[in-house]
Amino acid sequence: MSDKKGKLGLYWASSCGGCEIAVLALHEKILDVAAAFDIVFWPCVMDFKYEDVEALEDGEIDVCLFNGAIRNDENAHMAHVLRQKSKVLVAFGACSFGGSMPGLANFTDKDAMFDWIYKQSPSTDNPQGTLPQKHSQVPEGELTLPNFWRTVKTLAQIVPVDYYLPGCPPEAHQIEAAVTAIVTGQLPPPGSVIGPDVTVCDECSRTKNEKKIKHFYRPQEIIPDPDVCLLEQGLFCAGIGTRSGCGALCPQVGMGCRGCYGPNEGVLDHGAKILTGIASVLDANTPEEVDKILDTLPDPAGYFYRFHLPQSLLRRRALGNGQKQTAKTGEAT
Ligand code: SF4
Repeated sequence: MSDKKGKLGLYWASSCGGCEIAVLALHEKILDVAAAFDIVFWPCVMDFKYEDVEALEDGEIDVCLFNGAIRNDENAHMAHVLRQKSKVLVAFGACSFGGSMPGLANFTDKDAMFDWIYKQSPSTDNPQGTLPQKHSQVPEGELTLPNFWRTVKTLAQIVPVDYYLPGCPPEAHQIEAAVTAIVTGQLPPPGSVIGPDVTVCDECSRTKNEKKIKHFYRPQEIIPDPDVCLLEQGLFCAGIGTRSGCGALCPQVGMGCRGCYGPNEGVLDHGAKILTGIASVLDANTPEEVDKILDTLPDPAGYFYRFHLPQSLLRRRALGNGQKQTAKTGEAT
């Protein structure tokens, strides 16, 4: 990048907002970002309108950090707009990279979700059974809501992505390293994950012995030895199949890795990788013994695919009754 200031855009689609806060966790380094870039789009913290970014020239934004999964028409529209307006588009954080928590909705279905959220949940008072409408007339005019998709997707499933910065959220030191790489032009090959290709186990300082698991425990059920591998103590830990870069933060404080940095290089399916690692350390000789141990692991699908279901080979639960989804409405599998 030349001496001239670059242009930076930040956007959130379907996400919790943690990635936006992670940018602020740069603390005083945010001044370096401000010195290197003019922020031309960051609707979370400044009053930008979509028209502002739509009015930019194609490729005018040097770098766009896009966080959040794609789960409705509005998310997809902004993904296309920001791809067109950005030279470098970064899938920023676990939701845009792998689908993450919003992507767990792919274990169920839009109709089932709407039924629970707007009709059945105990805190809902909706005697008419009213569901969100795409168009609503109010005295002030017509209100519109974006179409809610049946299937949550990753950013790369919608538009080409240049780089990936994983994490839920990405750690500040990695954001800083990525921004530095962009500013100095020392970027890895396009399509790369920005960050080291090691596992969380590689960075975890806990003592590792032979793993033989007979029973899984919930974190609240035991007080783990502070120095020994959590998995060996029966606490689920996805560190064996998860990319690091976080410094093994969760295991260091007694909480098993949940897998937010996603798979290492060359791994096609993060959940399958974790499942393989866990299966290899079960202390079982028969299918019955395997079942007995796995019965102590609640919500195994949620554990294995917590952050990468939409990006996985599975992508979503199969649709029943011969249902088909169309790419036009963004509802393709
Ligand atoms: Fe790996 Fe988790 Fe054990 Fe640390 S606690 S060595 S990350 S399995």
